[in-house]
Amino acid sequence: MTAQITPLIAGNWKMNGTTASLGEVQKLAGLLTQGGGPRCTVVICPPATLLERLNELAASSGIVTGGQDCHPAPSGAHTGDISAQMLADAGAQYVIVGHSERRTDHHETDDLVQLKALAVHSAGLVPIICVGETEDQRDAGDALSVVAAQLAGSLPDDWTGHEIVIAYEPVWAIGTGRTPTPAEIAEMHDAIRADLETRFGERGAATRILYGGSMKPSNASQILRIGNVNGGLVGGASLLANDFHAIISAV
Ligand code: PEP
Repeated sequence: MTAQITPLIAGNWKMNGTTASLGEVQKLAGLLTQGGGPRCTVVICPPATLLERLNELAASSGIVTGGQDCHPAPSGAHTGDISAQMLADAGAQYVIVGHSERRTDHHETDDLVQLKALAVHSAGLVPIICVGETEDQRDAGDALSVVAAQLAGSLPDDWTGHEIVIAYEPVWAIGTGRTPTPAEIAEMHDAIRADLETRFGERGAATRILYGGSMKPSNASQILRIGNVNGGLVGGASLLANDFHAIISAV
C-alpha cells in the first residue's frame, strides 16, 4: 500500500440485506470498538432501505455508509431510481458508480458513469468509480487498454475541490473466488496510478485505488500489501461481521 494514503475498505452488500442483517453490523461495530477503532476508512454500502438505520447503529464505531448507485439527476420523474441527494439525506458519504453489474445488467456506459460521478460530487459525496476487464478481454491481452479507456471515459475532467476513489474490479474475479496474481494486480494498479498522475497531477497521486474481486480474509493481507493498492471493495465477504472484520484488520 502507499504509506501516505489512508486506506479504505468498502463493503458492497449488493441486493442483500434486511433488518436481520443489522445484527452483523452491530457485531462488526463491537469488534471494531474492542480493537480501538479501525485504522482505515470503513464504508458499508447496504441497500438504500437500510442506510439510515445502519448509520444510527454504526456511527459510533467509525463505520460510514455509502450508496450502491444513483441517478445522474437530483430529482424528477424516474420511477424506482434514487438520487445522490437522497443518499446524502439518508446519511451516506460515498456512492459506488459504474459497478460491472450495473454496466452489464443496465447497459451503463462510461459517459453515464461520469454523469453519475458528477451527480455524486454535486451532492457533496465521494464517488467510488469502478473499472475492470472481462475474462475475454484479459485473455486477449487487452486488460490494460480496456481499463485505461474506462478511466478516460468515466472520470470527470474537473473534480477540483472534490475527492474520487477508483475501484479496479476484474469482472471475472467478482463473486467467483478467483483473483488475479499479485503481479497482475500490481501491474494494473501501477498503470491506473500513472494514468491518474498524468491526468490530474498531485490529486491523482493521492487518489485511493481499491482492489475488488473475491477479496476475503485468506487473501486480504497479500493483496493489501501490493503497491498502489489503497484498500478493497468487498462483496460477499462484507456480509459477515467476522470476515469483514478480518479484512479490515489486514490493513
Ligand atoms: C463486488 O461486487 O464489488 C465484489 C468485489 O464482489 P466479491 O467480493 O463478492 O467478489
